[in-house]
Amino acid sequence: MTATRTPGVPAIDEGSLISTNPASGDEVGRFPVASADHLTGAVAAARDAAAWWAGLGFAGRRKRLLAYRSVLTNRLAELAELMHHEGGKPTADALVEAIAAIDHIAWAAHRARKVLGRRRVGSSILLKEHAAYLEYLPFGVIGVIGPWNYPVLTPMGSIAYALAAGNAVVFKPSEYTPAVGQWLVDRFAEVVPEQPVLQIVHGMGEVGGLLCRAGVDKIAFTGSTATGKKVMAAAAETLTPVLLECGGKDAMIVAADADLDAAAAACVWGGLTNAGQTCVGIERVYVAEQVFDQFLGRVVARAAKLKVGADGGADIGPITMPAQIDIIRRHIEDALTRGGRAVLGGAEAVQPPFVSPTILVDVPEDAAAIQEETFGPTLTVTRVRDAAEAVRLTNGTGYGLGGAIFSKTQGLQLARQVRSGMTSVNSALTFAGMPSLPFGGVGGSGFGRIHGADGLREFTRPKAVVKRRGPTLLAAMTFDRTEKTMEQIVKVVRLVHGRSK
Ligand code: NDP
Repeated sequence: MTATRTPGVPAIDEGSLISTNPASGDEVGRFPVASADHLTGAVAAARDAAAWWAGLGFAGRRKRLLAYRSVLTNRLAELAELMHHEGGKPTADALVEAIAAIDHIAWAAHRARKVLGRRRVGSSILLKEHAAYLEYLPFGVIGVIGPWNYPVLTPMGSIAYALAAGNAVVFKPSEYTPAVGQWLVDRFAEVVPEQPVLQIVHGMGEVGGLLCRAGVDKIAFTGSTATGKKVMAAAAETLTPVLLECGGKDAMIVAADADLDAAAAACVWGGLTNAGQTCVGIERVYVAEQVFDQFLGRVVARAAKLKVGADGGADIGPITMPAQIDIIRRHIEDALTRGGRAVLGGAEAVQPPFVSPTILVDVPEDAAAIQEETFGPTLTVTRVRDAAEAVRLTNGTGYGLGGAIFSKTQGLQLARQVRSGMTSVNSALTFAGMPSLPFGGVGGSGFGRIHGADGLREFTRPKAVVKRRGPTLLAAMTFDRTEKTMEQIVKVVRLVHGRSK
């Protein structure tokens, strides 16, 4: 941690990826860049490890995963400090993120058997003499590609569930957060020293591309929509299945009957936590006209109090990826040029590597700040006639990840109308910390699910088995069938399926 480099810009020096703090430029760590040969070797080793790991069974894996969860819990402070140091996020944000990840590991470990284990399912009336069994078997080796913004929670949403299902994992962290990724993998090796069940490969984007082509059985990608398309194209070459957790442009709807204090608090948190660098961050707010002024006043008052800075106790840290600052600046300037107003912050809020909270109003719906992912501490707040108009505008982008609704009476009903994978009613972002619920998007936000029972099944292939239990009375699936048997079968089918109700 000695040399000082361009803050936040990862560099490669003598075959090592160098990670730096986004505010100070302090070097955080050096990690060997993986070659194509290294990746092939890693996947081959993972394949052996996967067989061993699957052989431990649900109970054996559960024990190891719970031990891993305990190690992370007991070293939380150290992990949070590293997350702050490498990504710049405030220490409290780092703690909240790591705690959510720990909860997911525990849930996946506890529930894997119940969700995936072999069970009897109903049989057909025409095959009554057969028993039907269903179980979910691991794919083998999963390639996990992660982003930098939540370097613990997002990859762990795939890693923990893939491991609990019985797979080995080869993990490529973002080039912006390799040290956090390495720390997570090293801790796992302490509780599972026998085999390389969880490995890490470092490098820039092309190493992610190599991983897609290295013979893994599934790719779980979390990152931008643009990169997600490249991952899917690479995986198509070998018909490797993909799970894509991509970007978002989530909206909050504030209905006329909302608790405005609670809505404003959740809006400021949901939009500005982690400096707005949150895939499910609130970026747009649609507010019923009756309560618009009161709500806006509360939001501005809260956002104006937030402390921006590089120290761990700040509310809003630096923008982790320097290139993102240009996008944030462009969105603010475009909104202002097109008739929008900044009621807090504005163009001058962009002071690299920091961006102060910026609240924009009167922004046209086709502006970049409404249509594209901004990924900064900015919010557009738009007046609407009613909840129906709010839903229509909420659904007006190509993304569909999460979102929030504040209403005392219509929350669940409106939630169903929003085209997204998750919605929080009378809170923001809470679905991400709920291990029992699936997490993922639609449209430009990707497909497939992490978390919950669906997140466990995502890393498995269903295995269907039918077992004869006794002699067949009406044998249709044989060349020994007789005309009489077929007549009897048709009679039974008429009885069972011939009625209109
Ligand atoms: P990127 O798409 O830039 O990168 C994601 C990962 O993909 C990184 O590890 C990156 O490596 C790697 N990568 C880059 N190019 C390729 C390639 N050609 N083939 C394979 N892998 C590649 O996203 P960011 O890291 O900037 O993350 C921010 C984005 O992630 C935002 O859009 C955000 O919304 C989204 N996100 C989505 C979440 C979800 O659950 N839906 C959760 C969190 C974030 P490298 O960093 O070395 O370039």
